[in-house]
Amino acid sequence: MTKYVFDFTEGDKDQKDLLGGKGANLAEMTKLGLPVPPGFTITTEACREYLAHGSAPGELRVQVTTALRQLEDTLGRRLGDRHDPLLVSVRSGAAFSMPGMMETVLNIGLNDASVKGLAEESGDERFAWDSYRRLLQMFGKTVLEIPGEVFSDMLDKAKSTKGVSSDVDLDVDDLQALVATFKDAVREHSGQEFPQHPREQLDMAINAVFDSWNTDRARLYRRRERIPQHLGTAVNVCTMVFGNLGQTSGTGVAFTRDPASGRPGAYGDYLSNAQGEDVVAGIRNTLSLDDLKALDPSSHKQLIKVMRRLETHYRDLCDIEFTIERGKLWMLQTRVGKRTAAAAFRIAAQLVDENLITMDEALSRVSGSQLALLMFPHFDRSAPRELLTTGMAASPGAAVGRAVFDSPTAKAWADRGEQVVLVRRETNPDDLEGMIAASGILTARGGKTSHAAVVARGMGKTCVCGAEELDVDASTRTARVGTVLIEEGDEISIDGSTGEIFLGPMPVVPSPVETYIEAGLASALKGADDETTALVKAVDRLLTHADIRRRLAIRANADTTEDAVRARSLGAQGIGLCRTEHMFLGDRRVLIERVILAGNTEERDAALAALLPLQRGDFAELLDAMDGLPVNIRLLDPPLHEFLPDRTELAVKVALAEARGETGEQLDVDRKLLAAVQRLHESNPMLGLRGVRLGLLTPGLFALQVRAIGEAMADQIAAGKDPKVEIMVPLVGSIMELLLVRDETEQILADVAAERGVTLTVPIGTMIELPRAALTAHRIAEAADFFSFGTNDLTQTTWGFSRDDVESTVFAAYLEKGVFTISPFETIDADGVGRLVEIAAKEGRTTKPGLKLGVCGEHGGDPESIHFFHRTGLDYVSCSPFRLPVARLEAGRAAVS
Ligand code: ADP
Ligand code: MG
Ligand code: MG
Repeated sequence: MTKYVFDFTEGDKDQKDLLGGKGANLAEMTKLGLPVPPGFTITTEACREYLAHGSAPGELRVQVTTALRQLEDTLGRRLGDRHDPLLVSVRSGAAFSMPGMMETVLNIGLNDASVKGLAEESGDERFAWDSYRRLLQMFGKTVLEIPGEVFSDMLDKAKSTKGVSSDVDLDVDDLQALVATFKDAVREHSGQEFPQHPREQLDMAINAVFDSWNTDRARLYRRRERIPQHLGTAVNVCTMVFGNLGQTSGTGVAFTRDPASGRPGAYGDYLSNAQGEDVVAGIRNTLSLDDLKALDPSSHKQLIKVMRRLETHYRDLCDIEFTIERGKLWMLQTRVGKRTAAAAFRIAAQLVDENLITMDEALSRVSGSQLALLMFPHFDRSAPRELLTTGMAASPGAAVGRAVFDSPTAKAWADRGEQVVLVRRETNPDDLEGMIAASGILTARGGKTSHAAVVARGMGKTCVCGAEELDVDASTRTARVGTVLIEEGDEISIDGSTGEIFLGPMPVVPSPVETYIEAGLASALKGADDETTALVKAVDRLLTHADIRRRLAIRANADTTEDAVRARSLGAQGIGLCRTEHMFLGDRRVLIERVILAGNTEERDAALAALLPLQRGDFAELLDAMDGLPVNIRLLDPPLHEFLPDRTELAVKVALAEARGETGEQLDVDRKLLAAVQRLHESNPMLGLRGVRLGLLTPGLFALQVRAIGEAMADQIAAGKDPKVEIMVPLVGSIMELLLVRDETEQILADVAAERGVTLTVPIGTMIELPRAALTAHRIAEAADFFSFGTNDLTQTTWGFSRDDVESTVFAAYLEKGVFTISPFETIDADGVGRLVEIAAKEGRTTKPGLKLGVCGEHGGDPESIHFFHRTGLDYVSCSPFRLPVARLEAGRAAVS
């Protein structure tokens, strides 16, 4: 027989999947001997059965009866007994906490008879009737699905009739009258009497919890947060304890440390003579834990002792819910508490100092995405603020700008130098231009996988999405939240790290963590307050530890000397990818044009010769900046027509000149150019004449680059430096391609070495960015000194995606439909693209043990992908300079996990 019901004495904290988070932790606290009211948990498996068959499994009824009787026998009271009733709460609790699930129903077991028993037994008639009206209210709203306002309006009316403002001022008569009206309301709205039978109340509440798993809100949330839809929820049945038994009772919530700042010391809210959610509902002003200490020192002492015990046991920040019943403390919930990014770093460091966890554990408690959040500039927390509403934090950063409601306006205003925030109900591919022009994007609909969120993250642009209170009307160019109106041109501020939306321009301040990373510990600590100092020191300790522990080396993708210098100061151990295409743009475009247009070998050689000193200069500067560290230079990759003028524009120009009957040299040049543009035009350039193909078909092009590299190295060596170059060939699909380039490259380097009297040691390798390269890696490795996985192109060619095309058209729908749970350009698609990486790594090293392996796609800076590359045994990851700290931290975490 399947066991569907677990007593709180039976489970533990590691059984979240079966008992839900709440149930597992209630069991753990029970095991620890903490004062938890007795009870039992119905498993998620029972819920799955219920949902699959539309009714609860037969054994469940029996097992609930057994558990209930045991509870009754232990406590010597019966559920809903007319003299001394046992009352329980029914609480949902899945493995992940989520909105949309059924709210807790308290005081189950009360009815017209047992309310009198409760009054007598407690000696407090007011308390009994208060509990009964609460049961009717909660049961009516959550189990019978009657709108909550029906009850809250009646409660408000009772208060106003009596001329009081607080529910505690209602007396027995008022509450009895309220119970009668609530019962009428139940009958009227649900068409049935409030169930008087205690077991019927219990069963109805349990089934309502099961049903709540599939509310629209819960389903939507799970889809947005990528939580599987089939898990189901557990149900906890817990003996009631009462915070509404007068002034010596109350209820509260607390954290063992401050979850916002990470400051040590307990932190919480308490409300006396209250029950359940009263404390967080804002119905009366709450007390602090210090106030509680003054009010009831002995309960406070119990509470502090329990919190310390929990922290010692969980070895982490815990949050708790508790109730004090006539001076006795009861624990109703605990879990490892959620915290801000800053708190995560500070608390991890504190726990190390308190010898509760090791440095390795501390490292596993923080994440690269938290570090990234800390590095963004943020709004000045001390500035006056006017919070408009909150949406989902979809892409981090702090953006300030004038509200605009369509893409053309965003573009037009940005072009004249305005900062704008694009506000849309939701975005679609037509909004792309406006999204590029805006400093930030705000939408009213859609979650973290909506079009706006996906595209904004891809562009590294601040985005808040799904701000549901925001009513956007593009036709009138306005948005409103309640009565607050935002018109086109009004300044707003959006925080993509918290989801907050403010009216007016908020001052933006640089992040101290960013200062630390850019300029070092001393600069960041200068003049810093205690809080900032603690945070920066914590980040420094954990990042330093990550550097000690990681096996992966971290390199940067950098094309310019400026980037290289920055990368080095951010901890890069080399350059993993130097793209050379920018070296052919700007003023040099005419030179490459001449190479393309050359009518004969002499003309071409002359054009190439003019490029040589420029290229040499580029490389010399770069090598100087990275002296002593490896610099991986990729030979020219993009198709040649990218260096030529636009086809349509040129055609129009020529046609106009011809129509005007012009003649002359310029027209001749333009005609020749147009012919070249037309000859080189490709309908799918991504898959056309580019990479190694271009090098093999354009005589002298790669040769020029290699010679420039060799000569720059020779110059550096002559100056007493230590240049370390790796030459990388792009888009190789066959070993023959690599061999051809390799032969030529070796020859040129040998020539330069001989001319200059130096030794040039230059590893020559290839990118692995085509499926064929991965699948023939065992062959290619014969001709390669290293592989570098170009996971951007490898993702494009494996999926058959053109990123620029699909990202804004296909991806939001694909995420919505569940084709994938995250864009394969954000996190490596381990099953497909990743499999090719594994094959190539393994087979490459079979041919050539010790073959150096790296990654230079954007995935090199993505936390989850870094863990994958660590497991796959790569030697290094390379990422854009600003991702370096994240990559260092995650590589360290991968090594300790
Ligand atoms: P949530 O998941 O929304 O936190 P809970 O099940 O924790 O819901 O319960 C809501 C409120 O009711 C909390 O304040 C909790 O402490 C209180 N509560 C739940 N069960 C009991 C009980 N058996 N006795 C007293 N208070 C309870
Ligand atoms: Mg709770
Ligand atoms: Mg590529």
